[in-house]
Amino acid sequence: MSALTTPRGPVLITGGAGYIGSHAAQLLMERGVETVVFDDLSAGHREAVRGEFVQGDLADTGAIADAIQRFKPVAAMHFAGKCYVGESVTEPGLYYQANVVNSLNLFRELQRAGVRDVVFSSTCATYGQPEVVPIPDDAPLGPITPYGQTKLDVENILASFSRAYGMRHACLRYFNAAGASPDGTLGEVHIPETHLIPLLLEVASGQRDELKIFGQDYPTPDGTCVRDYIHVCDLAQAHLSAISLLQGGVESLTCNLGTGQGFSVLEIVQAAREVTGHPIPVTVVEPREGDPAFLVSGGTRAASVLGWTPQRADLNTIIEDAWRFKRAHPDGYPSSCAESR
Ligand code: UDP
Repeated sequence: MSALTTPRGPVLITGGAGYIGSHAAQLLMERGVETVVFDDLSAGHREAVRGEFVQGDLADTGAIADAIQRFKPVAAMHFAGKCYVGESVTEPGLYYQANVVNSLNLFRELQRAGVRDVVFSSTCATYGQPEVVPIPDDAPLGPITPYGQTKLDVENILASFSRAYGMRHACLRYFNAAGASPDGTLGEVHIPETHLIPLLLEVASGQRDELKIFGQDYPTPDGTCVRDYIHVCDLAQAHLSAISLLQGGVESLTCNLGTGQGFSVLEIVQAAREVTGHPIPVTVVEPREGDPAFLVSGGTRAASVLGWTPQRADLNTIIEDAWRFKRAHPDGYPSSCAESR
C-alpha cells in the first residue's frame, strides 16, 4: 500500500454544507487540512460549513474556476448532487443536470487547473438489483433508477479523465449513510426528509405520528427490507484515507463503504425504540418502487486498499448519535427552520 499523504494544501469540498460533506470537512479540519466548501445551499446548510465557504453553483463554470484560482486546492472531494431516488424517476432531467453535467463542469475546471485528485460520492445504487449479496466491490453494475445511473455515469467520466489526463480518483460507493457527529453539532437534515432513521426520530420527537413501513413481504427473515447502515463519521474517515492515498500517488480506486452487516426495517425500528424510549408506532404500507430487498456490502477493498474499518458500526451507537443531534436541533439547523416555514 502506498504511503498516506495528508493533503498539504486546501481541499475543495463540493456539497460541503450537506450531510456527508460537512462531516468530511469537519474531520479534515480536525486533522489540520484546510477546506474550501463550494455549495449552492439548495440542500445544504450554512451552519454546517466547516472552513472557507464559496456559495456557488456547479452549473456556473466561471464560479468554479474563480474558486479554484482563489483558493488553489490540491485535491477535491465531490459530494454535491441530488440524492432522492424517487425524485430521480419522476424528474430525471434534474438528476442528469445536477449529477452528470455539473460533475463534468467541475472535473473540466479541475483538469484545466491541474488539480489531479478527486474523491467522488458514489452509491450502492450503481448495482441496481444485485445478483449476489453481500455485494462484492466488483459486482456487475446495473442501476435501476436515474439516480444510480447518473452516479455510474460520473464514475465513467472519471475513468475517462484518468486515462486521458492522469486525473486520479476514488469512487466510494456508500451503502446507507446514518448517524451524526458524536459532539452533536452536525447531523442529517434533509428537506423533505425521506430517510428511515431521521423519520423514526421525528416520530420519537412527537413531530410525526407514526412510521410507515414500505412493505413486509420481501424475501427477508422478517419480510422488511435489509440495509447496511454506515456511520457518517466512518464515511468521512474513508474520504480522508482516500484523498491521502491519492495524494500519496496511488492509482485510482473504486470500493464499497458499508459495515457488511444488514438490519431490517423492523430491527431499526426496535433499536430506535430502545434508544429513544418512545414506543414509535408503525403501520405497514405498500412497498416503495425500486427498493431492493437486501443491500449489504460484501466489499473488502476499503479495508485492504484504504486501510479502513468502520469504528462506529454498532447500530445503537449510530442511532444514539443521530438522536443526540435531533434533540439538540429538533427542527434542523436554524436556516432549515427558516426554509421550512
Ligand atoms: N423505509 C420505510 N419507511 C420510510 C422510509 C424508509 O420503510 O418511511 C425503508 C425503505 O424501504 C428502505 C429502508 O427503510 O428499505 C431505508 O430507506 P432509506 O430511504 O433510509 O434509504 P435507502 O435504502 O432508500 O437509500
